[in-house]
Amino acid sequence: MENFNIENYKLELEKRAYSAWNISPKLVEEALHVEKDLAASFARIESNKIFNQLKVLKAMQKYKFAETDFAATTGYGYNDSGREKIEKIYAEVFGAEKALVRLSISAGTQAIAVALYACLRPGDEMLAAFGKPYDTLDSVIGIGDDSAADAGSLKDFGVSYRQVELTADGKPDIPAILANINDKTKLVHLQRSRGYQRRNAFTISELEPVIRAIKKYKPEVIVFVDNCYGEFTEIMEPTQVGADLIAGSLIKNPGGSLAPSGGYVAGRGDLVEKAQCRLTAPGIGGEVGPSLGYNRNIIQGFYFAPHVVAECLKGLEFSALWFSRHNVISQPEALGIRSDIVQLLEFNDAESLIKFCQSIQAASPIDSHFKPVPWAMPGYDADVIMACGAFVQGSSLELSADGPIKAPYTAYMQGGVVYENVKLAALLATQELQNT
Ligand SMILES: *Cc1c(COP(=O)(O)O)cnc(C)c1O
Repeated sequence: MENFNIENYKLELEKRAYSAWNISPKLVEEALHVEKDLAASFARIESNKIFNQLKVLKAMQKYKFAETDFAATTGYGYNDSGREKIEKIYAEVFGAEKALVRLSISAGTQAIAVALYACLRPGDEMLAAFGKPYDTLDSVIGIGDDSAADAGSLKDFGVSYRQVELTADGKPDIPAILANINDKTKLVHLQRSRGYQRRNAFTISELEPVIRAIKKYKPEVIVFVDNCYGEFTEIMEPTQVGADLIAGSLIKNPGGSLAPSGGYVAGRGDLVEKAQCRLTAPGIGGEVGPSLGYNRNIIQGFYFAPHVVAECLKGLEFSALWFSRHNVISQPEALGIRSDIVQLLEFNDAESLIKFCQSIQAASPIDSHFKPVPWAMPGYDADVIMACGAFVQGSSLELSADGPIKAPYTAYMQGGVVYENVKLAALLATQELQNT
């Protein structure tokens, strides 16, 4: 080992590996410099990962997860020990009293809807404190034009809605939030991730003062946080800084890319019990729900989730710094604190955006031989291009990218469970863009 130079070894090996995609040695060398400049950021991500990983492991041991808990239940699914332990483990890790973790929740939107309908009753008002919630919630709340008036939206059930915008610099407007809380306000909705807004995710330390201010002003109001994309990006979840209820999707962060479907709601015990009744029926609540043999995927995914989310964060940090050095505006910028797994990249023109998405697809483990093209997706005012070569359909914990073909030509890049794969996608995209 005396004359062994690790830097050279690394460089030569990577040049060889990336040459399979005809990536130029120059780009490979440049990428190694970018990684050096990200050392502090990567070290921070690794530290959080260790903390979260051990937290999950400890919870699994505390509830004595056993091989027999993998056994499938069918039909009603009474006494499904694996399902029951999974819910206790989620609650423990998220610092919640209770959790509802179910395969039968098939989208983040459904998990959020279950939580909202669990809490709100006719005559109540819901206040969205960070501007308009994620697009798919329009029809749940009963706003926007494509929500059928009698489809059973919250509005249809007599729940009114109010919304407070963020400040001009994209921060929570606490005085305005408090001013919009009235006698009818039953629940305040906060969204951690950026969703499709042009703001960064709110970190736990940004969420905390908002939650505390609301609870101080009106203690009985329920603070709900849409936690989609946020889990394990930091060392705490919103339930650990005062949120009453959170919800999210298992084909995002907490499923660790192994959960084939599913969603969760976690928080105060009485509210989670209402969510159980809303998902199944009053009287049966959380007692039913066959796991059909998927307990293993769900708990193994949760076990892997801290690790996988760290890979995502590193991939996005790399992409942010890499693309900012190649004339692409990235938001958030590298070297900051991330609280979700979304990266915006703003390209100069439509062609570059399309090439970027096609490179993401070409770098994917699944469907790499397909070429995505922009199409007129229902509900969008411009053609949209989508790239996702994932093991689980639509999983945005896995590397994916999409963007509407209109100025400012922004790609929403998400996830990436294997860092090397994200790095390949970034290099491939840059190589493609340089070749034109
Ligand atoms: C993904 C997401 C949702 C909705 O989840 P689906 O699984 O797409 O229904 C809601 N809110 C945020 C912030 C999300 O990222």
